[in-house]
Amino acid sequence: MKKHRRLLFEFRRRHTPSVKLPLIVVILLLCMIPLEFQGRLLASSSRQAQIERRIIDVQNQCQILSNKISRIGYLANSVVDNAATDTEISTLADIFNGRILIVNSGFKIVKDTFSLSEGKIGISEEIIRCFQGESTNKYNTEKHYFILAIPISETVPVNEGATGGRTAGVMLVTASTESMFTLEENLLDKMALYRLMIFALILVLTIFIVQLLVQPFEDIVSAINRVADGNLDEDIKEESYQETKRISRALNSTLTRLKAVEQSRQEFVSNVSHELKTPITSIRVLADSLMGMEDVPKELYQEFMSDISDEIDRESKIINDLLNLVKMDKTSSEINFAQANLNKLVETILKRLRPIAKKRNVELIFESMREVTADIDEVKFSLAVNNLVENAVKYNKKDGWVRVTLDADHKFFYLRVADSGIGIPAEFSDRIFERFYRVDKARSRETGGTGLGLAITKRVILMHHGTIRMESIECEGTTFTVRIPLIYIP
Ligand code: ADP
Repeated sequence: MKKHRRLLFEFRRRHTPSVKLPLIVVILLLCMIPLEFQGRLLASSSRQAQIERRIIDVQNQCQILSNKISRIGYLANSVVDNAATDTEISTLADIFNGRILIVNSGFKIVKDTFSLSEGKIGISEEIIRCFQGESTNKYNTEKHYFILAIPISETVPVNEGATGGRTAGVMLVTASTESMFTLEENLLDKMALYRLMIFALILVLTIFIVQLLVQPFEDIVSAINRVADGNLDEDIKEESYQETKRISRALNSTLTRLKAVEQSRQEFVSNVSHELKTPITSIRVLADSLMGMEDVPKELYQEFMSDISDEIDRESKIINDLLNLVKMDKTSSEINFAQANLNKLVETILKRLRPIAKKRNVELIFESMREVTADIDEVKFSLAVNNLVENAVKYNKKDGWVRVTLDADHKFFYLRVADSGIGIPAEFSDRIFERFYRVDKARSRETGGTGLGLAITKRVILMHHGTIRMESIECEGTTFTVRIPLIYIP
């Protein structure tokens, strides 16, 4: 059973059906079923009408014959020549493809067109009823024949010269309708051919209509293929149906995002090359000038060498930051979450940064509102906090302050890094998290910045399912607020 199901699944996977097939079948069925139904209904009602017409016809003819029989006294045998009437009865029976029996009042069969029962006694329900004045008209639907019992009246004197009618005999007619069906079957054969032609016509029309219906979807596929071939600038515009309109819009918005990603990738590559080239150019200039000078004093030589060493440090810092970013752009599987004491972690970071802060005479304050433990990747989170605090020190004023506050509620912990620094103009506030974006290039360079610090910080916080917000007033200071869930749910 399982094997069968697997085979069926495999078959479906390999031979994915086209939507056209079910559409064609449904339209064909919707057209052919009413046509077939109507045809059958028409055939049966016309057959019924034909049979009724035939019965009335036979009834009328036999009534005329019965009147004649009664007029000429056929039953009383008083006529000289019954042969002519016998022939007439036989001819009528032949015409109707049936049998006529004439029964007299003694239930004796005086005439049988099949000459089988003449002289015998004929008693049947129809004959008895007819003698009682009830004429019968019965149709046997299974064997396709009808029976008619027609009374043969006789005029008899009643009293004082008046005359009256009496049933002197019965004319029993049995006629087959088989011949009518052979005719009908011939007609049906012709109809079958006609139906086949209609079917073929509807099939061609259906295929054409289905092709028209499905065409917009095929157009979308060709447009997507063109885009897949690298034609990213082409817009997918197929608005024949609501559905195709929605598909086109969804694809176009995906395309727009793809284009933005592609553009930012190109920008990133060109930024990386530029940033990596700058220290190398400086090193080259410094080295060239050293080589170009003769009898260089030792102090100048040392100064140049120390500048070259600074540039090498810068280059290696950029490479380190880039590596960090690339690592974090990969899947989050490389994250190592574990419960950590954040108060301790922040204190360690601040301790490490205190010498730099002291150099600039910036006061570093830590405000711990409560003990906080949370699920974090210690190495990555430390990098993020380090970047925020280092920036707060770097972009500060002389004798300024940096306040780091740690707080938590039942769901999140909050880390706030506020400084009394130069602030960030409102127009740049959206861009500072971009890679290599710097408000003041010269100042960033001077302080050893790479322009990647905040990009790394934001990435780390997103990995922790957290958010980062920035508020700043120019020349007054900046506050970064980080909010991260205490428990990490992958
Ligand atoms: P950088 O290595 O240049 O510091 P970042 O990505 O860390 O790069 O920061 C991007 C830019 O945002 C910085 O160049 C600086 O102009 C601005 N910036 C970041 N933090 C602060 C802050 N606390 N005060 C003022 N400006 C800041």
